[in-house]
Amino acid sequence: PSTLYVVATPIGNLRDISLRALDILAAVDVIAAEDTRTTAHLLAHYSISRKMMALHQHNERVMAKKVANLLAQGKSIALVTDAGTPGISDPGSVLVSLVRDQGYKVTPIPGANAAICALSASGITLPHFLFYGFLPVNSGPRRRELEMLKPQPHTLVFYEAPHRIIDCVADLVQVLGMHRRLTIARELTKVFETFHSCVLHDAPAWLQADANHQKGEFVLLVSGAEVQIEEKVSDQAQHALALLLKNLP
Ligand code: SAM
Repeated sequence: PSTLYVVATPIGNLRDISLRALDILAAVDVIAAEDTRTTAHLLAHYSISRKMMALHQHNERVMAKKVANLLAQGKSIALVTDAGTPGISDPGSVLVSLVRDQGYKVTPIPGANAAICALSASGITLPHFLFYGFLPVNSGPRRRELEMLKPQPHTLVFYEAPHRIIDCVADLVQVLGMHRRLTIARELTKVFETFHSCVLHDAPAWLQADANHQKGEFVLLVSGAEVQIEEKVSDQAQHALALLLKNLP
């Protein structure tokens, strides 16, 4: 009782939900859902029937008060979003913060997340990544943020919507150059799941080659700035210089 459960739901395939998540969804007093219709579909699939309330970006603060009132009455609440893990490029963090501030227990019920899903099957062997989520929707601010990210050496992880994928990739090429590797992970866990890896130079042509390549939901993985290679070059340069110096009269 008096617990807010932050419950991850599937990002496509409805079977990608944990047994514990199903237990919690069936047991709580109320489910706070980003879109009650989307969640109703998931609940119906598992024959779960619970009271729901809508909690989205625009009413999170107001709803946080309602959730706190329910918690004060000893009720338990599950927070879910349309897909994946709440609070990750999704509403939830404001609610969690306010509920925590009031001293209530908040417990995560882990599960699907599109970024981790994409990275796990990408074949990228580097251990570090920078999860960025959504870039700005307009090109000017998007390019500015990409400029800021350009020097950092870790794999960049972006989320993007289908109607912006072409413009977003164009800006990646423009700001980050032709040579970085891009992995496009699309429609993860769904029927048309696709992984495509190429250098940024070739990405616009791949997207244009087939209208289906532009459809669905996207995770973009972009290799980081090549700090190590620069270091290697300068190591080599120093080695060459040392040899030259040794042999000079
Ligand atoms: N909270 C979610 C998570 O844990 O991954 C992310 C929600 S965010 C509003 C939605 C974005 O996540 C999509 O625009 C897309 O970039 C990415 N995404 C969600 N589901 C996906 C899927 N099945 N395949 C690829 N990307 C997906």
